[in-house]
Amino acid sequence: MITPQHFTSLESALCFLFGKGTKAERADRISGGDINEAYGLTLTGGKCIFMKTNVKENASFFTAEAAGLAAMARTKAIGTPEILGTGTDEGRTGYSFLLLEFISGEKRRADYWETLGRQLAAMHRAPTDDLIPNGKFGFACDNYIGTRRQKNTGHENWISFFRECRLEPQFRDASRYFDRADLKRTVRLLDHLDDILVEPEHPSLLHGDLWSGNVITGNDGSAWLIDPAVYVGHAEADLAMTELFGGFSPAFYDAYKEAASLQPGYGCRRDIYNLYHMLNHLNMFGRAYLSGVKRMIGHFG
Ligand code: ADP
Repeated sequence: MITPQHFTSLESALCFLFGKGTKAERADRISGGDINEAYGLTLTGGKCIFMKTNVKENASFFTAEAAGLAAMARTKAIGTPEILGTGTDEGRTGYSFLLLEFISGEKRRADYWETLGRQLAAMHRAPTDDLIPNGKFGFACDNYIGTRRQKNTGHENWISFFRECRLEPQFRDASRYFDRADLKRTVRLLDHLDDILVEPEHPSLLHGDLWSGNVITGNDGSAWLIDPAVYVGHAEADLAMTELFGGFSPAFYDAYKEAASLQPGYGCRRDIYNLYHMLNHLNMFGRAYLSGVKRMIGHFG
């Protein structure tokens, strides 16, 4: 795993990265994130960088995010912001931070979606051998999906990884919302997962939280990926998530499918992958997601 430099203050990070005396002359708040505070920092000399902050107890959000960005960058398949560093500032209030290259593009290129489809397929094809210490599926460290810890323990088998590291922990936490019939359905679903899912032809590095809010436009007009929850899994799980909240153009899907042939039956498996994200939303945000979750469980269980 590639670990970026971890600094003990923002001041020391900026001096180390950009030269002695460099300060954040301005911090402009950026909206759009769900979890952290985000800023565009204008540094002495005029350069702009991106910073996310959270309380210091959540420093692991950023070390995990940086490890994910580094894994995606290593594939050289798709644009991701350069990682400048992570840190924990122990000052009076204390906070943790992640510093990244600032990405800002005004205008999308004409083939924006088509290129993203091809690039995602290329990332899904990239070798994954040394991303997990043991097993074929998982990741070198646990990370976060939203604010919730995402287990990435290595497994040899995709379906058991998805059962044990994805559905089971979410079902356990969501059980307080379920009645007896729902609980029976969840047990049945987990027992029959081998009949519903398939093993992939090869393991793929996944972004892991691929909704349209995590795709931004770079200076080159192409799509860049931010805010991942990476792991090595079945590529279908990434594709499924793009369909959960919408926002990806048909050109993206056409290009992806041309570059990476889908195993038959993807359409029947998609909702199982998305059930994980719906359960995660239920556990993070509460009952508004319950009817959607019940519908999905009812369909499979
Ligand atoms: P959160 O972790 O809170 O969900 P995000 O990673 O989604 O935060 O970032 C919040 C917002 O900041 C995004 O919606 C995006 O517009 C912007 N953003 C994220 N990364 C960068 C970057 N490297 N450069 C410029 N803007 C960024």
